[in-house]
Amino acid sequence: MSDCLFCKIAAGEIPAKTIYEDDDVIAFHDIHPAAPVHFLLVPKTHLDSLAHAQTQHQPLLGKMMLLTSKLAAEQGLSDGYRTIINTGHGGGQTFFHLHMHIIGGKTLSTNIS
Ligand code: 5GP
Repeated sequence: MSDCLFCKIAAGEIPAKTIYEDDDVIAFHDIHPAAPVHFLLVPKTHLDSLAHAQTQHQPLLGKMMLLTSKLAAEQGLSDGYRTIINTGHGGGQTFFHLHMHIIGGKTLSTNIS
């Protein structure tokens, strides 16, 4: 989508601190980190949110889930990490291109509200 921030980052039109990229996904540091390590894992294809995912997206979503441990390890998150996918306005999503937050580097609260 032409006006989508994450599409533009994925296309290299807007700079980001990229830590991983392949044909399907890109991962880059969040511009407003919520913890010492906070990066976003984003599919290159535009998908508004997790609620818009279809059966055809199953391999992509599985790939993203499995990539988190590799990328987290590379970022030094040996003690664990949190994955968050905010979905829709009510779920706290502010950028409507599916993305997974991977957060760690400190002991995170058990309160997930
Ligand atoms: P959401 O609230 O939609 O789940 O998360 C959007 C995330 O995108 C936020 O954590 C926000 O800090 C991050 N973000 C917003 N604009 C930019 C940007 O231009 N570059 C990067 N790297 N992250 C951004």
